[in-house]
Amino acid sequence: MNAEKFTNEEYWEEIKRKIQRESNVSDITYQLWFENLEFQELSGNTFYIRTEKEDERALGYLNNKFKLYFETVIGEELGQIITVQFLLNNADQTPVQVEPDTRIDNDTLNPDYTFESFVVGKNNMMAHQVSVAVAEDPGKTWNPLFIYGGSGLGKTHLMHSIGHFILKKDPSKKVIYVTSDDFTNDVIESLRSGNSVASMSKLREKYRTVDVLMIDDIQSIIGKEATQDEFFNTFNALHAAGKQIIISSDKNFKEFKTLDERYISRFAWGMVVDITPPDYETRSAILKNFAEKINLKISEEIIDYVASNMKSNVRELEGSLKKIQGYIKLFNIKEPTLDDAKEALKDYIYPLDSNTITFDRIVDVVCQECNASKEAIMSNKRNAEIVYPRHIIMYLAYDMLGITYQQIAHNLHRSDHTTVISGCKKIEADINSNKSGKNTREKVESIKKILSGS
Ligand code: ADP
Ligand code: MG
Repeated sequence: MNAEKFTNEEYWEEIKRKIQRESNVSDITYQLWFENLEFQELSGNTFYIRTEKEDERALGYLNNKFKLYFETVIGEELGQIITVQFLLNNADQTPVQVEPDTRIDNDTLNPDYTFESFVVGKNNMMAHQVSVAVAEDPGKTWNPLFIYGGSGLGKTHLMHSIGHFILKKDPSKKVIYVTSDDFTNDVIESLRSGNSVASMSKLREKYRTVDVLMIDDIQSIIGKEATQDEFFNTFNALHAAGKQIIISSDKNFKEFKTLDERYISRFAWGMVVDITPPDYETRSAILKNFAEKINLKISEEIIDYVASNMKSNVRELEGSLKKIQGYIKLFNIKEPTLDDAKEALKDYIYPLDSNTITFDRIVDVVCQECNASKEAIMSNKRNAEIVYPRHIIMYLAYDMLGITYQQIAHNLHRSDHTTVISGCKKIEADINSNKSGKNTREKVESIKKILSGS
């Protein structure tokens, strides 16, 4: 990695100025703290910066306040994730103070759930952006933050990421993450001990002295009156004190029929974001990431197979790779073929999702409903009786599978994806005008019904 350029004074100053802007500090702070910082060396992933200070407390300040900004900006310049290590003036090369990770990692936060390991796609882009903004400035940007979406789509992952980020930036922050069940248990516990002043104050001490309170899966406290009331009071106390509250739920709070108006209005004070199931590209990216993480070598073809067949849930995507890994270990297979993967997942993909809509099923159903043969569809024939169902397949594959035009072209053995784009457009126009005499709208609707098994 080329770190040579950091020895160039002008360049180095430019970097420091950028960090100043990013961290939003004044020129005075710059003069006091940044001006005399010198690049020392990049060794592995550690980027050493020497200070002119000799007091250990100065390191604490630099670490708490600026380390993350240095890591981000320099990491971006280098195109590599780095750790910044500040050295005292009188220190030798070896790091004086390594920030122990245990101090950063609150034990309720899963160390794997970070922003770095979170794959961003259209389905979660807004939730991700807002989470980062809240993590940058807890209590100031959006309060409360309400994240909702189906099971296994990354809500917990995002919440933990926010927690890690805040603690990394400022380890003195008090961050608490609980599931709603933990919270309920604490409330019940305190009620059981006679609702004494002592037990109530213990509960309040735990939840009301924090900088950030995260409550996961709030849907399970709704309807539990005592818990709900305690939550409500906690919420008010924290909110009034400018402390950040982050809530997740499996659905939007507006959909809770029994939820009091007072909650609804409070949740609406902040920011509400949703996470929807990932599209094909995001599913592939998540699969690739996860395969790498668990050291599983699999082909694009297998990634494509899993990404095309499992659509609802990230947890299941990960589960399917674990299945493949278990399978190849069991049979001592080095590089699994598509058939190996299919075999490994045969109980997983089909019985769980017998209505899974795949490209093949779309082709089969369209052929059946339009009286066309599959061979003709896949061939180069261009007569209207074949082109029309082919276009319907393109349209449905794009609409229902969320795969790319390129992928559709590939599946139909076509080299050019622009024909897929125009095919989709034609069907869409037919549907919208519904006057081509072919009743395209009805046809597409009925095929969709068959495909979704209703
Ligand atoms: P939820 O809380 O919404 O039910 P989780 O946060 O527990 O879902 O996510 C389920 C699994 O999927 C976790 O292992 C998580 O790391 C992973 N996951 C979810 N979304 C993503 C994503 N966008 N990128 C990487 N991993 C993800
Ligand atoms: Mg969760």
